[in-house]
Amino acid sequence: MTALTAFNRTTEQWKQIDTAHHMHPFTDFKALASEGGSRLIVKADGPYLWDSEGEQILDGMAGLWCVNVGYGRKELAEAAYQQMMELPYYNTFFKTTTMPATELARKLVELAPPGMNHVFFAGSGSEANDTNVRMVRRYWTLEGQPERQVIIGRKNGYHGSTVAALSLGGMSAMHTQSGLLPGFAHIDPPHHFQLGWGEDEDAFGIRAAGWLEDKIKEIGPEKVAAFIAEPIQGAGGLIYPPRTYWAEIQRICNEYGILLIADEVICGFGRTGTWFGSFTFDIKPDLMTIAKGLSSGYQPIGGVLVGDRVANTLIEKGGEFYHGYTYSGHPVASAVALANLKILEDEGIVDRVGSDIGPYFQGRLRELSDHPIVGEVRGIGLIAGIELIKDKAKHEFFPNAGKVGTLCRDHSFRNGLIMRGVYDTMVLSPPLIVTRDHVDEMVGKIRRVLDLTAKDVGLL
Ligand SMILES: *Cc1c(COP(=O)(O)O)cnc(C)c1O
Repeated sequence: MTALTAFNRTTEQWKQIDTAHHMHPFTDFKALASEGGSRLIVKADGPYLWDSEGEQILDGMAGLWCVNVGYGRKELAEAAYQQMMELPYYNTFFKTTTMPATELARKLVELAPPGMNHVFFAGSGSEANDTNVRMVRRYWTLEGQPERQVIIGRKNGYHGSTVAALSLGGMSAMHTQSGLLPGFAHIDPPHHFQLGWGEDEDAFGIRAAGWLEDKIKEIGPEKVAAFIAEPIQGAGGLIYPPRTYWAEIQRICNEYGILLIADEVICGFGRTGTWFGSFTFDIKPDLMTIAKGLSSGYQPIGGVLVGDRVANTLIEKGGEFYHGYTYSGHPVASAVALANLKILEDEGIVDRVGSDIGPYFQGRLRELSDHPIVGEVRGIGLIAGIELIKDKAKHEFFPNAGKVGTLCRDHSFRNGLIMRGVYDTMVLSPPLIVTRDHVDEMVGKIRRVLDLTAKDVGLL
């Protein structure tokens, strides 16, 4: 148990202090306070969490899509301890490096698609995406096309919460609150269930990719620098691309010479059953954003895998690149990431997601398709979305998107399963170490929670 348990505070006291002093991310502060504050999570093991009341919860979200190797991994704690004793911090500025940072760069290049031979480290996914913006614009300036500044992303895409990252992303509520930076544009996502229902899925995939071409023409191809997208859109509602989509996106990027950034923060490190979503969907990105599963969330770390096209220009023509973070290549975070990658490799976790537990999970979830409020189940590997719908036959969605999803999410929390609601899509992204028993437990709980939700809205 942690030293803080020695404080001997009651749950109520912890909650009061938290409410008084702690502003939480993506939270309605006042509403949270009026509901009595936050649930206090005190420990975890494998795919399970425990709260301060001793209640056991199955974590269907692997924290925030990140705890790929599950909780309670001694190897990761030991890697951190040893590195802290040896060298807790040194920077990678001013012609210095550390062994963990250098070795992690080598290891990531080994795992990455061919032609990606460099890494730039950051402390998080948001920071890494800021790095992408800096690199892309620098690249075009060095290539003598400084007017190429615009980066196109997708509506409901999520690339983080710094001002540049939220501008890459397409969350309109974030734009409204914080101001969208100039030089960013967005196209609709390839959401077949919502935007192409009734249309052949392959044809829709081509049409949805075509929105990129339309946007490039609208802006002027000479002004477009890059396109950024998640292989599978995660926080925007688990939007799974039709199988024709990515090849057509790739073709368009090639045709207009624009850089392709794959944000692999969720899809990377085994989530889709390969090392990167780019392998699963046969994407050939120029830049890849990584974070989350890189360290399984045990340490904050992110980065950009840089393909030769961009790296060569920055190296050969760039001079000093005025960019970096105090914690770029942090030795402890890097050591933990290395230990995490070793677990993923040694235990064959990525292959197991691709060939065994992923297909099992997807198959079991699809059994829920017969439920009266389930419109569609989609996903691959250990990432899935269950989109709720009011009337299946009429393809009629619930009014006030998000209301029923939140209801369902709250039922789930009360029934010992962390499942997230994005609008009316229930999202799952469990630790990659889950067994068939865990999956069965999850599916059983989901069915109960769907029943409760359907009863609430009068559909059962
Ligand atoms: C979480 C996430 C980010 C942001 O990462 P942070 O570490 O929270 O800054 C970026 N891109 C995607 C796809 C994400 O899911």
